[in-house]
Amino acid sequence: MAIPRLRHAVRTLFEVPAALRLLSRACSTFHAFTDVLRLPKRQMTKLVFPLQELERQLTPDSRLDLHVKIFDPSLEDISKAEAVFTATSRNRISYLSSAVRLDHAPDLPSPEVCFIGRSNVGKSSLIKALFSLAPEVEVRVSKKPGHTKKMNFFKVGKYFTLVDMPGYGYRAPEDFVDMVETYLKERRNLMRTFLLVDSVVGIQKTDSIAIEMCEEFALPYVMVLTKIDKSSKGHLLKQVLQIQKFVDRETQGCFPQLFPVSSVTYSGIHLLRCFIANITGNLKTDGL
Ligand code: GDP
Repeated sequence: MAIPRLRHAVRTLFEVPAALRLLSRACSTFHAFTDVLRLPKRQMTKLVFPLQELERQLTPDSRLDLHVKIFDPSLEDISKAEAVFTATSRNRISYLSSAVRLDHAPDLPSPEVCFIGRSNVGKSSLIKALFSLAPEVEVRVSKKPGHTKKMNFFKVGKYFTLVDMPGYGYRAPEDFVDMVETYLKERRNLMRTFLLVDSVVGIQKTDSIAIEMCEEFALPYVMVLTKIDKSSKGHLLKQVLQIQKFVDRETQGCFPQLFPVSSVTYSGIHLLRCFIANITGNLKTDGL
């Protein structure tokens, strides 16, 4: 009699933490859009369209300063785009190779997008969040001082290639700038550059390196604001308005709509996936 009771107690002991882990994972992250669609409307809007949520805080006049609906896909489109980022036996998503020079980069016919930003901006976290539906993808990070900084190529099925560019900073060596510059200038299938800016601190001096490169080469690029979960609504709104003003006044090639994201809460991640699917020509809908 005592043995089955003991067995039950031991089983319960193992089941409780597992259940708690599952619950906390389900609450803290919304990797899949089907989970997001189950949320109450207000919470869902906040998670999927963080810029629209911020816009609600503005007076009607200053709403004009935020471009929130230039890219405004339906929930159905966002749901469709998710298939592009979901690893299946027919859609293999994997790390492909690394390169320190453009002539070592893989020669692929598919469209390419690249992610660029200063060290610590949250680039690897963002790429991991975008690839959370392909959990076996290893996003490599080489942060140790002295390690060679490389461009890392990821193949997303037959759809596109994603390139993780090395993070830049004060001590970016000259050959690193040459590598990034050559890539941006000469990569023929590069469709869009995603330039990451930390939403907590806004555009920093080092961010200008990448902004100037994109402007000089007349590249189409998009500003992604990272770590939005870290600030109060007021602080975030202030930063977003400042960056929006900069984009409107000082840039030519930057997409007018900003993409705020959090790799912790997944806010903005589904919309960004949809945008990438769209600009790489993998989301054929009339609405966009
Ligand atoms: P990278 O150097 O640009 O690749 O930056 P990482 O992705 O390694 O992130 C740098 C630091 O910021 C790490 O401690 C991350 O955990 C943290 N981080 C990255 N993204 C987010 C985010 O969206 N929210 C919060 N709160 N922290 C983040």
